[in-house]
Amino acid sequence: MRIADIFKSGPDPVFSFEFFPPKGDKGHDALLATIADLQDLAPSFVSVTYGAGGSTRDRTLELVSYIKNRVGIEAMAHLTCVGATRDEISGVLDALESASIENVIALRGDPPQDAEDFVPHPDGLAHALDLIEMIRGGDRSICLAAACYPEVHPQASSPDDDLAHTIAKVRAGAEVLISQLFFDNECYFRFVEKVRAEGIDVPIVPGIMPITNVAQIERFTRMCGASIPDSLSKKLEPVREEPDAVVDLGIEHSVEQCAELLAGGAPGVHFYTLNRSRSTRDILSRLRELRPWQR
Ligand code: FAD
Repeated sequence: MRIADIFKSGPDPVFSFEFFPPKGDKGHDALLATIADLQDLAPSFVSVTYGAGGSTRDRTLELVSYIKNRVGIEAMAHLTCVGATRDEISGVLDALESASIENVIALRGDPPQDAEDFVPHPDGLAHALDLIEMIRGGDRSICLAAACYPEVHPQASSPDDDLAHTIAKVRAGAEVLISQLFFDNECYFRFVEKVRAEGIDVPIVPGIMPITNVAQIERFTRMCGASIPDSLSKKLEPVREEPDAVVDLGIEHSVEQCAELLAGGAPGVHFYTLNRSRSTRDILSRLRELRPWQR
């Protein structure tokens, strides 16, 4: 099913999970266990990331197809422009369609670890917008999502330019926006208001990452330009070296954050699971008890 249709007529709110393709056999087995553990939470869809420079191409395809065709959960593949020609990107789209994958989140992608800036392949694409236009210019019926940044993409020339680029992705054919992780809900609500003021009414899904490790979340937020509010930093600092306490605090914070987002009209939550089940399971179970969207 196309995820745009899930947002139109499926459960309200729509909960979804993101996984990444693990490298070794151990990670693979652990992920299958996580998927099995989260299955009874009945996510409306799950998404599978695409590694830097297409490094996980085959594993992304394999995993997204396994989830859709063997586990039976609706799935969305991430696809980036990094290091690929247009023909190679077309080949990936063909393979996805052959595996009956109906949903793709079209991304520019981040530069590989050894490179500072994103440099498009000479026969490739420079922006997510180009990928969306390429796909919509053909006869593919894939449902397209795109990324958005409540705290502005770190390489954007200005917040207004970034907003304009996001809106261009929707006008070109993205039917759902999924946000970068953030911890300050005001950023999300302000961003939604600005997008709506431009006459755009697609679902804008908050991407939420439960905190499980303080150093890791500090690294992620630095890289993606998100902020950790002082009030949250102050709670994290004293438990920084206590793994269980960090996980518990992360769960508490995410429950509060998601409850406020859903009460404020967010159409669902996309959980960045980091391939682990405990936090996502606890947060989603608590939200379903609290039902903040009915407030
Ligand atoms: P774009 O929309 O192309 O934007 C990138 C930058 O270029 C922005 O600053 C934008 O303002 C600017 N820009 C856009 N269009 C133009 C234009 N026409 N002219 C000038 N400037 C322009 N990365 C991965 O490698 N693999 C993944 O699986 C993955 N999944 C993600 C999922 C989500 C939900 C999100 C939010 C991010 C994900 N990322 C992933 C990270 C993403 O690839 C990076 O944030 C990347 O730096 C930007 O991708 P984008 O699609 O937003 O790019």
